[in-house]
Amino acid sequence: MQNFPGVGVSPGRVIGAVRQMPKPVSEPPAGEQLPEGVSAEDATAELKQAATAVHDELRARSERATGDGKAVLEATALMAKDTMLLKGAAKLIAKGTSNQRAVWESAASVSEMLHNLGGYMAERATDVLDVRARIVAELRGQAAPGIPASDTPFVLVAEDLAPADTATLDPETVLALVTSGGGPQSHTAIIARSLGLPAVVAATGVEDLPDGAEVFVDGAAGTVVAEPGDAERDAAVAWRETASLLAAFEGQGTTADGHLVPLLANVGGAKDAAAAAELGAEGVGLFRTEFCFLERDSEPTVDEQAAAYQGVFDAFPGKKVVLRTLDAGADKPLPFLTDATEPNPALGVRGYRTDLTSPGVLQRQLEAIARAAGQSEADVWVMAPMISTADEAATFASMCAEAGLQTPGVMVEVPSAVLTADAILREVSFASLGTNDLTQYAMAADRQLGPLAALNTPWQPAVLRLVKLSVEGAAVEGAGKPVGVCGEAAADPALAVVLVGLGVSTLSMTARSLAAVAAVLKTVTLEQARELAELALSARTAEDGRNAVREKLPVLAELGL
Ligand code: PEP
Ligand code: MG
Repeated sequence: MQNFPGVGVSPGRVIGAVRQMPKPVSEPPAGEQLPEGVSAEDATAELKQAATAVHDELRARSERATGDGKAVLEATALMAKDTMLLKGAAKLIAKGTSNQRAVWESAASVSEMLHNLGGYMAERATDVLDVRARIVAELRGQAAPGIPASDTPFVLVAEDLAPADTATLDPETVLALVTSGGGPQSHTAIIARSLGLPAVVAATGVEDLPDGAEVFVDGAAGTVVAEPGDAERDAAVAWRETASLLAAFEGQGTTADGHLVPLLANVGGAKDAAAAAELGAEGVGLFRTEFCFLERDSEPTVDEQAAAYQGVFDAFPGKKVVLRTLDAGADKPLPFLTDATEPNPALGVRGYRTDLTSPGVLQRQLEAIARAAGQSEADVWVMAPMISTADEAATFASMCAEAGLQTPGVMVEVPSAVLTADAILREVSFASLGTNDLTQYAMAADRQLGPLAALNTPWQPAVLRLVKLSVEGAAVEGAGKPVGVCGEAAADPALAVVLVGLGVSTLSMTARSLAAVAAVLKTVTLEQARELAELALSARTAEDGRNAVREKLPVLAELGL
């Protein structure tokens, strides 16, 4: 039995066979020529054969898929047989270029041409690049890039996952996620929680597990065990029973003594919002609007945006929906807003700051939000990400007012915003703590880096002190200006109790975590939550704080959390 300790980021215990996420396909060297003795005819025939194999594989997958996924796979399969792509490559091969390099270059020209056509065609530009990578992988005899296709369930092992990978991740076949990189606030962690999949990140060594190896994954304890024994099998069976107990949230977050803490959902679009409403969320505490447009390389029109936002508002008539304006940059690049060549993207022009370099985009987004809000019955609040100064908060509030939006707010996720929370809240109506970024900036530790996972936890006493300072800063402004939490910290049931003890007024999380957080919160009084907050704040290390709090919450062990 071999153990791979990591950081548990989404609870659940399962056993399954490993499938490694294939490595991205590298670019064939520029100027690569046909190998000695290989004719242009043979190289072209080999390329056509590879393209047909890619087409057939995508086509077969599309036949098994449904809905949006089916349409995407069908469109991509057709690209593999695109005559312009293959003829362009054949011409280069005839001049002596290797077939891998030829298809690489030909796809680049087709993609650029589609991009320049704009509209629907521009959306297909990335499909050509996807097909190109698949054809090159086929020519090299490598596994196709992206999430492996499989008819049997498996444990996905990867270095890390990008937000765009979610689109092709099928929760019916993926049993759990394990990554060697990534931290507790990485997008792998966020994706896993939103899909309700057990997950462990920063598990060094898992990249060497062979495909098919059986592993036990414990997403609460943060361990991966190869060749599991009876104890692990029993734990996996027991989890299946507990999971059904945690499936339902009764619809009102409260402590044991009746202190109400609205439990809200983090969503990325209309589908998520409908699922969150179904799971009983009391509203939306974070609508990450950039998730609607991750695949776009041009700015969505006001009409397109209004339609996307309205889809979310309509899932929550009469309820609060906190929409966040585009938070592009760092791990969520949007080609029409962010500069991929920035040396230090997490400290770069991201979030609200893109208004400096792309003026007009934020204003048009606010116009779209106002239009959608006017057509819906949701109580729409709007906040800006990455606010660092009271001045920025004031400018954002006045832009909201101009657009006719009544409830402007800010994300507090930069330490300077914590330290000036009183001045910032003078300008806006509410704040929402983004503990993911707040942790990375407080600890100076990139949230995507596996080796820094131990630093990058919101259990760090320094981060909890910043939470406390924010709540105190807001209180200077007097009652009525709520401070919620919408970072991943809110989805950890033990930490959620601590946050309530620190005085936050709402908790927003992936809808799948609502039931677990509600179940734990209702076992403590507000006074007990304050005592637990004190324990965590005064701990010497993040681990000491977490252990001390967990020890006082026996319900966690009962529920396997
Ligand atoms: C955060 O930083 O905590 C947050 C909620 O925003 P995101 O994870 O989208 O950066
Ligand atoms: Mg953030």
